[in-house]
Amino acid sequence: MNVDDCVFCNIANHSISGDIVTENDELIVLKDILPKAPVHLLVLPKDHIPSVNDIKPGHEALMGRMILLAQQMAKQHGVADSGYKLIFNVGKEGGQMVKHMHLHLLGGKQLAE
Ligand code: 5GP
Ligand code: ZN
Repeated sequence: MNVDDCVFCNIANHSISGDIVTENDELIVLKDILPKAPVHLLVLPKDHIPSVNDIKPGHEALMGRMILLAQQMAKQHGVADSGYKLIFNVGKEGGQMVKHMHLHLLGGKQLAE
């Protein structure tokens, strides 16, 4: 897929508007456009990594910082103590619709398995 056609690349490089919560040089946090919980954020790298299948040695620190940023977002959005889910969907049967790796942060209600 051409990176120009990737919705998350286009939000990350500010070509189109997204509901950006925060960003830094390498990561961006969006409010999910169709939230499945009171708090539903997406943490993603600005670089186009299609899925968890594409992470490589060298991405360890990036992946760690994604989780740390998710933890920080959970605190800021008031769900750190009540609890939350962090989910990577991978591929077709994993339910991944957008082929730019993203970590879902879901919270603010009792979540099903
Ligand atoms: P996936 O199924 O790929 O793991 O999750 C993709 C998520 O991205 C979905 O929850 C969907 O609602 C969200 N999404 C899709 N397009 C956009 C968009 O343009 N902006 C934002 N903020 N979220 C989007
Ligand atoms: Zn992309």
